[in-house]
Amino acid sequence: MVFYQKLLSLFGVTNLSIPPSWNTHGSTNITQDLLAKLSPNASVTTDLSFAPRWSDYHSPRGSKYVVLVAEEQDVVETVKFANENDLNFFAQAGGHGWTSFDWGKNDIIINLRGLNQAVVNEAKDEILLGGGTLQGEALAEAAANDVFVVAGGFNCVSALGVALGGGLGRWINRYGIHADNIIKVNLVTAEGELIEVSENSHPDLLWAIRGAGPNFGIVTSATMQAHPILNKGQLWEGELTFAADKLEKYIEAINTMNYTEDMTNHWRFALNEHGTPVIVANVFFMSGDVEAARAGFKILYDLEPIADTTEVKQYAHINDGRDALCAHGGRKPAWSVGLKSLDYPSFKTILDEFVKFVADTGIMTTIMQIECYHNDAMRRIGSEGASYPFRDINFYALIIPVYDDASLDPVVETFGSRVNDLWKRSSGYEKQRTYINFAHGDEPLEQVYGDSLCRLSQLKGKWDPLGRFNQWFPIPVPVNEL
Ligand SMILES: Cc1cc2nc3c(=O)[nH]c(=O)nc-3n(C[C@H](O)[C@H](O)[C@H](O)COP(=O)(O)OP(=O)(O)OC[C@H]3O[C@@H](n4cnc5c(N)ncnc54)[C@H](O)[C@@H]3O)c2cc1C
Repeated sequence: MVFYQKLLSLFGVTNLSIPPSWNTHGSTNITQDLLAKLSPNASVTTDLSFAPRWSDYHSPRGSKYVVLVAEEQDVVETVKFANENDLNFFAQAGGHGWTSFDWGKNDIIINLRGLNQAVVNEAKDEILLGGGTLQGEALAEAAANDVFVVAGGFNCVSALGVALGGGLGRWINRYGIHADNIIKVNLVTAEGELIEVSENSHPDLLWAIRGAGPNFGIVTSATMQAHPILNKGQLWEGELTFAADKLEKYIEAINTMNYTEDMTNHWRFALNEHGTPVIVANVFFMSGDVEAARAGFKILYDLEPIADTTEVKQYAHINDGRDALCAHGGRKPAWSVGLKSLDYPSFKTILDEFVKFVADTGIMTTIMQIECYHNDAMRRIGSEGASYPFRDINFYALIIPVYDDASLDPVVETFGSRVNDLWKRSSGYEKQRTYINFAHGDEPLEQVYGDSLCRLSQLKGKWDPLGRFNQWFPIPVPVNEL
């Protein structure tokens, strides 16, 4: 179509509207022919607003069709149809992936949101999640059944989108990363076959999808572990705010704090209502015991926070009040790197440049967050069963400026890369490591796959030799298998 438009434009014909007959590929009418293969509640549309993205920054373009699947079999039929008609496809669940995807010539978005079941089993030790189930939906079902399931801090993100890249959240302190909690999945392969993947069925693929999932297939459903609820689901959470002149002491405290499996802390720089920089620590204690929580975070309380919003909350509502950051659209480029320890001089420079950046650009929402977990459980579980490679990261640093005006991209890119470089230079690791779900998109493959890359590459040759799932840090196939 583009070719003909260009050709016609040579003869002065422009603004060509696309007649319905262009909805074809060879002799195939894509919408009608594909729809005929799908279940009654599935649909096919050329309206891309049915597959909204969280960030429009470098977001994939050029897709022509969105398939809104209603059953697992719809994914099978769509993949087979795409293969038969030489069309590319891309699976989308929550649409929150922020890395710079390479969709290339991507004809079909398979929107998995219709696969949104969340069901706790009778024994209350497993939860079945659909390929498009959101974390909030999983959490609600878990809370209703008095179990804990691993989930991140936002209800809007898809549960499996998070788990297939590794998965960080407050529950990893006790239960390991989200990928460790995957028991088995139903997966549609590159050839369009629906298979079960578990310890007993294709265990090599189970290892691969626990950290590099989007490269190996489309997970239509997953059985994940559910854990007995603790303390009747009572949790302690809130924000401690510190004056920015405490930064050196704060960094020292974070570096030396003894995290127990109850404790996490996600902290960030922010500007208060007077435009004064502050440090805001989101602290969390898994048992709702206020005294124990305050004792655990004593080292921070000793720094005399100027505000304290901590309170006891219920598990079902732990992510409430965070939906503002869930909104789709706008520009939200992200940079991230793993840190062994926090380097005060680097953070002081970042704070000063953060204040100047906000003043210069007017971009008031800039998430500059450091995530601190208790890592014993994930280290104890180890990498044998999962391709997720970086269980030795102590702190996850990420920066995400949020804005609308694309003309600000160059200044934002300069700032984001600069902050990331400061973190990299002081990361404490010889080889940089970045959690893949937080990555910008320009990192070398070793930086996101670590030591798992070689085995992942062999498995890619086995499961996706033609690279149909190559939109997200594509894993190369070994040369002798091409
Ligand atoms: C507001 C926000 C909060 C976040 N919080 C956390 C957090 O607490 N913890 C954390 O670890 N990460 C978090 N992240 C990062 C998150 O893990 C990634 O953005 C993740 O990729 C989002 O998945 P998605 O399905 O919503 O996005 P999508 O863009 O739909 O998918 C991302 C990638 O996963 C693939 N994919 C999704 N579902 C499937 C499936 N069923 N089968 C195969 N491939 C699939 C897609 O093809 C794509 O390559 C957060 C992101 C945002 C924007």
